[in-house]
Amino acid sequence: MSVLVAGAGPTGMVAALVLAANGEVCRVLERRTQLSGSSRALGLQARSMELLAGIGLAEEIERVAYRLSGASMMRGDTELSRFAWVPPQSPYPYTYVLPQSGLEDILRDRLRTAGVEIETGAPVQTVAQHDTAVEVTLADGRVVQAGWLIGADGSRSRVREELGIDLVGRDTGETYYLADIVLEARPPFQDSAMWLGPAGPLMLMRLPGAAELWRIFADMTDAESLDEPPGPSMAELQALLDERGPSRTRITEVRWTSIYRTRVGLAAAYRQGRAFLAGDAAHVFPPFGGQGMNLGIHDAVDLAWRLARVERGAPTDLLAAYETERRTVAAATIRDVESRRRLYALRNPVARSLRDAMLRYGSRIPGAARQASLQNSQLDISYRRGREWPYTRGPRDGDRAPDAPLTDGTVHDRFGVDHFTLLDFGACDSDDMRNEAPDTPRSVGGTVEVRIDDETDPTGSARDRYGLRRGGYVLIRPDGYVAYRGSDLTEARRVAAACTGTGQTV
Ligand SMILES: Cc1cc2nc3c(=O)[nH]c(=O)nc-3n(C[C@H](O)[C@H](O)[C@H](O)COP(=O)(O)OP(=O)(O)OC[C@H]3O[C@@H](n4cnc5c(N)ncnc54)[C@H](O)[C@@H]3O)c2cc1C
Repeated sequence: MSVLVAGAGPTGMVAALVLAANGEVCRVLERRTQLSGSSRALGLQARSMELLAGIGLAEEIERVAYRLSGASMMRGDTELSRFAWVPPQSPYPYTYVLPQSGLEDILRDRLRTAGVEIETGAPVQTVAQHDTAVEVTLADGRVVQAGWLIGADGSRSRVREELGIDLVGRDTGETYYLADIVLEARPPFQDSAMWLGPAGPLMLMRLPGAAELWRIFADMTDAESLDEPPGPSMAELQALLDERGPSRTRITEVRWTSIYRTRVGLAAAYRQGRAFLAGDAAHVFPPFGGQGMNLGIHDAVDLAWRLARVERGAPTDLLAAYETERRTVAAATIRDVESRRRLYALRNPVARSLRDAMLRYGSRIPGAARQASLQNSQLDISYRRGREWPYTRGPRDGDRAPDAPLTDGTVHDRFGVDHFTLLDFGACDSDDMRNEAPDTPRSVGGTVEVRIDDETDPTGSARDRYGLRRGGYVLIRPDGYVAYRGSDLTEARRVAAACTGTGQTV
């Protein structure tokens, strides 16, 4: 059996890389015949970087991206307030600014190295399913069969349409110009700046590379007419900057333009039989906060490790949690982005003054900045189920597993998209010492067991972060979430085994 991936955007390519890392056969079908030069998404959040580290890509991204350390709210040339980024606890504690096309180049290269070819000019046209296989017809009439299908074919997903799954949502009414521009000189404000005028926001964000290369994002909802695709001219962008942004900032070149009409939508289901939706095929919303592409990367990893396990004999009920987990996260993200969109779309002068005052006040509260940074980083996503004793220290089942330094590397270094990791903090006082895992990391049925003790964790920070000073066991999923935390090694191993054999799944 194999997996078909429809769409070679960030979501489809990450899914294919995770499948390849698990030794699965997969085919990537892409409608386009040529590479897209489309800049679109700009930021990789901390959680995406952790996931991309799991397929060996984080270092390369760090080399070409830059770390965003805050944003300014401006009026003309004056900075009204500064939103500082408070780095959360992560090996990658920033937003890493890199245009989507740059990330896609890295993913494509890595797929080539992994021996996975992207079949271009191969648009999926129809999807049919049987008990044991899914069958896809391409535009040229070819029929391709596979065990599973991942529909990562973007917001206008053909796969979604073929599965008869509704995208529940609506147009929300704003229109934005987007462009990548070169400025005469680096302007004197932070790497991300926003002007909230009566015609809606105008934002500038520096792109990686030359200091003069910036993205402009301007609300054009009130404009009487628009330059339809490919978008605004240099003269029009310059006029926008002069009227609504900083003074004396000259544009010398326009490299990419687009028109973006805001809409929100969430697929009514993420799965039908052997076919799944992921990324923009499953959720669409405006780019405020830079969450969209990141959500897709996260979907891809969550789905691909589950499919790989099922292909190796795990029960298919392992796949059910993909929708429960990821659709809930997308719904919450849409709620949050919607509240930002409404705030930015305000036109009433009194409401705007109140909003501006609220934003300025909020930027001065350290706790608020910390919380905003954590939320934007997507590190606070959790899949906790049910009620638990609220005073437990350390992560609970369903939480993201924290990182900590070890004598040799870090806890996260032991994770990987192709295995579960069992952290062994030693038997609790009352437990049977024969339960202990070995001194050196070893792989037991696809689970890597790692001993954490005075020798490997001399400062005790791993034991502190996991709240297990007195011993215990933590089983980590291939996507870095806690599958089991407790004092029973046999139970931890049973849960891990259930993901390749029979029984309870996570
Ligand atoms: C103008 C704009 C600006 C944006 N800015 C941001 C931002 O600042 N931050 C952010 O996080 N997000 C942003 N986004 C959203 C971000 O671009 C998407 O979330 C991201 O591209 C989703 O990746 P994906 O792989 O799911 O889908 P896509 O990138 O859309 O990829 C889908 C792929 O599927 C292919 N395809 C389509 N139909 C078929 C078919 N029938 N068969 C086979 N292949 C098919 C397409 O050609 C494409 O390559 C922006 C989006 C737009 C449009």
